[in-house]
Amino acid sequence: MFLRIMCYLIAFFVPLIGDAKIIETVTIENIVSLIDENTWLLVDLDNTIYEGKQALGHTEWFYDRAHGKMRNGMTLEEATRECYPEWIEVQKICPVKPVEAAFIPALMNLRQRNIVMMGLTHRQPSLAESTIRQLASLEWSFLDSAPLKKTFVVPSETPTIYTQGILFTGEYNKKGEIFVRFLSLINQKPKKVVFIDDRRSHVEEVEKALIEQNIEYIGVHYTAIEYVEKVYFPEIAEFQKKFLNKIMSNDAAQLLMQYEIE
Ligand SMILES: [Mg+2]
Repeated sequence: MFLRIMCYLIAFFVPLIGDAKIIETVTIENIVSLIDENTWLLVDLDNTIYEGKQALGHTEWFYDRAHGKMRNGMTLEEATRECYPEWIEVQKICPVKPVEAAFIPALMNLRQRNIVMMGLTHRQPSLAESTIRQLASLEWSFLDSAPLKKTFVVPSETPTIYTQGILFTGEYNKKGEIFVRFLSLINQKPKKVVFIDDRRSHVEEVEKALIEQNIEYIGVHYTAIEYVEKVYFPEIAEFQKKFLNKIMSNDAAQLLMQYEIE
C-alpha cells in the first residue's frame, strides 16, 4: 500500500520537475548537437572561452594569491576581497587567448542559426569593460545573440550587472540564483538551457536552480582547460608584475630573467 502511494506521488511530481542532465566534454564540437532552436546557450568566460595569455593575469595567478592568503588564515571571501583590486588592474591590460581554437567559430555558427546565447560569469561588474574588450580581441561579442540588449542590475546582496549580453554575477553570488532572477526581471523563460562551464560545481548549482523553474537543462562540464599548455608559473608572474604597465609574454620575461634584468 505504502509503495503504491509512493508510485502515485512520484508519477504526480516528476512531470513538474525539469528534465536535467550533466555531461563532461573536452570539446565544443560535442555540444553543438545538444542545441536546438528552443535552447538558450549560457557560456562561462574564464577557462571556458578564454584564459590569460601569460602568467600574470591568468586565473591561476589569482587563485594562487588567494590561496596563499587563506593559508595565512583568511577566509575565501576575505582573500578574494583582498586580491580583487589588483586583479581588476591587471585585467585592464591583460591579453587573453581561446582555450579551444574551435570554440568561437562554433559560437559564430550558432549565432547564424539565431540561437540565443549569453555569457554567465562570476566576474564582478567592475570587470565588465575589460571583459568586453577581451572578448572583442577574440572577435566575439554576445550582444547580437543575447536575449536582450539593455544594461541593468539584477538586485542582489553584492553587485551584479547585465550588459552586452553578459550577466556578471560577482564572486559571491550563485550563478543559478542570479540567472533565475534575471529571467523574471526580463519576463522570459527558455524552454531549454545548455550551460557550459569549466567548473563542475557551477554546472550543478545552475542545474538546481533551473530544475525548480521546470526548465529543461543540460549542464556541460567543459574540461578543455585541463589539456592545454600550462601558462601560469608563479615566478614568471612575479617578474611580469614588475613591468605592470607593460605586459610581456612568458618568453620575453624568461629571456629577461635569464639575464637578470630588472
Ligand atoms: Mg570558469
